[in-house]
Amino acid sequence: MSSIFSKIISKQIPADILYEDDLCMAFRDINPQAPTHFLVIPKKEIQSMADLTADDQAIVGQCLIVAAQVALEEGLANGYRLIANTLEDGGQEVPHLHFHILGGRKLNWPPG
Ligand code: AMP
Repeated sequence: MSSIFSKIISKQIPADILYEDDLCMAFRDINPQAPTHFLVIPKKEIQSMADLTADDQAIVGQCLIVAAQVALEEGLANGYRLIANTLEDGGQEVPHLHFHILGGRKLNWPPG
């Protein structure tokens, strides 16, 4: 199922892109929940964590490495949180796998 993130990947709609390569893309969340809030997504249309297979190992690995690199570039040396809301109970709204990276303030635990 295509989502709004497919349109960001194809540049049909604009985004504040922080990083892009053949496998993944990082861009700022349009509705930030922390001083720094960006998303890392695979370019492949994978709906959620629940749809990952062994074939996606390199893609997911690259997404996490990009998340860590961009976090440092964004000044999050003091820490951050990585979240993958998954399906209905996880509160996932956009059906394209994405990792939220939030930082720039002390984050509460546990989440709601
Ligand atoms: P989730 O609830 O995990 O599916 O989160 C989806 C996230 O995508 C939310 O934090 C939205 O603010 C964000 N989002 C939705 N549309 C856009 C967009 N066009 N550009 C950037 N972020 C977006």
